[in-house]
Amino acid sequence: MSKASQQGPQRSCIACRKVLDQSLLVRYVLSPQGEVLVDYGRKLPGRGGYTCCEVSCLETAVKRKQFERIFTGCCLPPTYEALKESLVKQVRQRVANLVGMARKSGIVRSGSRLVMTELGRDSELSLVLLSEDLSPTIASKVVSIAENRGVPCHVIFDKGYMGQLMGKGERSVVALRSGPLAETINNEILRYKQIAGEA
Ligand SMILES: [Zn+2]
Repeated sequence: MSKASQQGPQRSCIACRKVLDQSLLVRYVLSPQGEVLVDYGRKLPGRGGYTCCEVSCLETAVKRKQFERIFTGCCLPPTYEALKESLVKQVRQRVANLVGMARKSGIVRSGSRLVMTELGRDSELSLVLLSEDLSPTIASKVVSIAENRGVPCHVIFDKGYMGQLMGKGERSVVALRSGPLAETINNEILRYKQIAGEA
């Protein structure tokens, strides 16, 4: 656990009761209509309930009617599928926002040739993102160079969306220079894959 995880308010998961820093948990609030909403960005007003970032805890919470218990009164029974779908979408959006932020702070390289060249040198690249629609031949080339360098590679987004995040045309290979932002993005992607069931 990093130091950062020790800071900030602690909350407990309504399913397994584990107490963690709230940044490591998923927040839920009740809409005025009585619907349970996922509030991954922890921005919505109102009293919140929390689960671990694991779908098993979300599933348990729904099954055991924990949401109805914490949001007393007018809480409509949520479905696991709907909450999971919303959570997956929000984590994916968070990754996209962070990648856009990385681009703005100038720590991003994009384009397969450039990334492969820089990875081949002793560059400071510490994370590689490959689009879902990248050709398998190029993908395996990039992955093998990155693996040699001990740089993690993740497949995420399509090249149109990746290009959009880069403020360019299509981009199928994007790499980030090492630093806290690259580390945060790597962690968010791992979380995303775990929640979306791709890992
Ligand atoms: Zn839990």
